[in-house]
Amino acid sequence: MALVVQKYGGTSVGSVERIRNVASRIAKTYDEGNDVVVIVSAMSGETNRLVALAAEITETPCEREYDVLVSTGEQVTISLLSMCLQSMGYDARSYLGSQIPMLTDKAHAKARIKSIGDENIRGDLKKGTIVIVAGFQGTDGEGNITTLGRGGSDTSAVAVAAALKADVCEIYTDVDGVYTTDPRMVPEAQKIEKISYDEMLEMASLGAKVLQIRSVEFAKKYNVVIHVRSSFHDGQGTLVMKEDHEMETVLVSGVAYNKDEAKISIFGVPDQPGISSQIFTPLSENNITVDMIIQNISHEGATDMTFTVPKSDCKKAVEIVEKIAEKINARGISHDMEISKVSIIGVGMRSHAGVASTMFSALSEEGINIQMISTSEIKVSCVVDAKYTELAVRVLHKAFGLDLPEIEEVL
Ligand code: ASP
Ligand code: MG
Repeated sequence: MALVVQKYGGTSVGSVERIRNVASRIAKTYDEGNDVVVIVSAMSGETNRLVALAAEITETPCEREYDVLVSTGEQVTISLLSMCLQSMGYDARSYLGSQIPMLTDKAHAKARIKSIGDENIRGDLKKGTIVIVAGFQGTDGEGNITTLGRGGSDTSAVAVAAALKADVCEIYTDVDGVYTTDPRMVPEAQKIEKISYDEMLEMASLGAKVLQIRSVEFAKKYNVVIHVRSSFHDGQGTLVMKEDHEMETVLVSGVAYNKDEAKISIFGVPDQPGISSQIFTPLSENNITVDMIIQNISHEGATDMTFTVPKSDCKKAVEIVEKIAEKINARGISHDMEISKVSIIGVGMRSHAGVASTMFSALSEEGINIQMISTSEIKVSCVVDAKYTELAVRVLHKAFGLDLPEIEEVL
């Protein structure tokens, strides 16, 4: 007998029919003799609908009221799922975040979990009750509802699993696991059997959208094993877990891409102490996150600097940087929205040489120019012209042996 935490995403509970399907899966796990705690998201599209309603009224809703509004989607699903299980003869009970309680800080719309009370849940489990918890929401402990940021029910699930020391946290979704790259772009992509927390964190922050990044950070910190799997059919998905020896033998585990960044360059920047801080402090003060930064070798006391920012912040960043350029006597600035960042990820890179050079030759063989490069211990990212995204992802996937083995035609 195990303690199993299951999380069902929006598409998995997108209709009454699908909620019934989820209920049978929960019932099956329960009938096998397990204690089951379930976390659910809002029905698919519902949170977007609520956000859009707020936007019709004001562009800048009060954050407290925003959370009161967007947290309602999950209240609908916990009650429906609970009713469904009860109608099948099971004892089930739903909980809002505040009823658990799931205590968070006061940062509305992006709250962080501080602690989780486990008494209510444990009491129910002891009585044989299936516990259904609303994902995405918590309380600041002073009677205010908070939410954890979009996609936050993954984090709710991992946090509950950590608090209960569950044996596994199963995340049921509309894909059947984590893939070596986006299967919509590369049909040869393969499902990964197991992946380390660090690789998953890189994949998620570089563009793979399967799990909310914070949920993986949480899982790493508390050593929760996550099993990402499909709610539409059985079968093993992907385990996200502590790195093991086997993972290190794989050079590259995945290829990710991100088209959401833009590139800004400042030319003829005086090469003096304090200049970088003059450029980047105003950006951070305006909440613009800078990702990659390149500074060229200086030439006659001046240098060029290039960096990337989220596309959605590009206009604002250009306005800020134009003013700075004038102030520091730079020669000028330019920006480019048509870029994309392609990355290779793998813990095996730590112990193997030549990974970056394989990446560069694979891109050059296709005539793809690399505009910027950045590396970490377990990833290499290149900025390329956006129109080459798909080609770059495909050749890298192939170059690192990630393509599914070709099926030979049998005559
Ligand atoms: N319903 C919330 C959202 O759409 C939370 C989640 O689905 O994880 O962002
Ligand atoms: Mg999600």
